[in-house]
Amino acid sequence: MTASHDYRTRPLIDIRSDTVTKPTDAMRRAMADADVGDDVLDGDPTTRRLEAMVAERLGKEQALFFPTGTMANQVAIWLHTQPGTEIFVDAESHIVHWEMAGASALAGVQLYPVHGTTSVMQAADLAAAFRPFSAQGMDASLVCYENTHNGAGGVVTSLDASRALFNVARSAGLPVHLDGARLWNAAAATATSLADFASCADTVMVSFTKGLGAPVGAALAGRAEHIARAYKIRKRFGGGMRQSGVLAAAAIYGLEHHFARLAEDHEAARYLANLIDGVGGATVVQPDTNIVMLDLPSPSADDIVARAQSLGVLVSAWTPSRIRAVTHLDAPMALIAATAPLLMRAIAESLS
Ligand SMILES: *Cc1c(COP(=O)(O)O)cnc(C)c1O
Repeated sequence: MTASHDYRTRPLIDIRSDTVTKPTDAMRRAMADADVGDDVLDGDPTTRRLEAMVAERLGKEQALFFPTGTMANQVAIWLHTQPGTEIFVDAESHIVHWEMAGASALAGVQLYPVHGTTSVMQAADLAAAFRPFSAQGMDASLVCYENTHNGAGGVVTSLDASRALFNVARSAGLPVHLDGARLWNAAAATATSLADFASCADTVMVSFTKGLGAPVGAALAGRAEHIARAYKIRKRFGGGMRQSGVLAAAAIYGLEHHFARLAEDHEAARYLANLIDGVGGATVVQPDTNIVMLDLPSPSADDIVARAQSLGVLVSAWTPSRIRAVTHLDAPMALIAATAPLLMRAIAESLS
């Protein structure tokens, strides 16, 4: 924190996202040492090992490795739906806001964004969104939900609430896809297993580049017939990868060494939330997991982001009046504690 420190190229802390983590030396060694093959031609052994681990942990028949969570979500939407149908999805979800209208452009489906009565879509909200049967009505084909919910602030949908969502979808005859990019965090924050959460969906996407700290990758898990179709669709989307074991090795390393430490990120998030809550009249959404959302009394997010950056602290503007900070592997408690006063100063000066 010396005056000569160049904050533009080397901030003191980057808590814009849990995707900014860099692979650790040990993870890089695991990548370098990975046993590999051509996964499009006749298979990559390390990728097979990762897929088996993910299927086992999620209690699903099979899993398939993807370069990104976005591609895995889009392949899931494609495989469950038909063009010209409608899918029900949380209005503030990643699929609605951050996937370039992929569901419409690729699968040709219409999104029905369901607003939650709490910050996250609940079973009753979904049930209320279903259209009454009509011979003139369009067909629905899928329900998607997100756990943890990023836009709401890393909010966990409990096992009971997940089951209720699944049952409402089932009673309407609809399959369910779970965007579980941070399902690891939901499991770490509760007494619920990954498999119990995953049982509340037909297909589940999990990401390795968030809390687990891998540079690349996600997986889609589900029944064998779904994953067999996902395999072909992944290839169509350009997601067939060759010596993907180099990447899968990083994901395996993250599962084996970084899953168990996610509770530390949650503790750091609670710590940060308590410090910044109330500063300048801003209010935090008390974090369930590793995402801290700060709601501002005025649309000053960009100003706070710029002031914080000039002090060496990178956070992001989620909306004009909401700041997001995310704790992760490369932002340990001690660093959060050392830099939180700088963030508090940026907030206080902006809102004064
Ligand atoms: C990050 C994220 C994704 C997409 O993952 P990418 O690998 O960045 O494409 C999907 N859903 C949620 C909730 C996410 O946070």
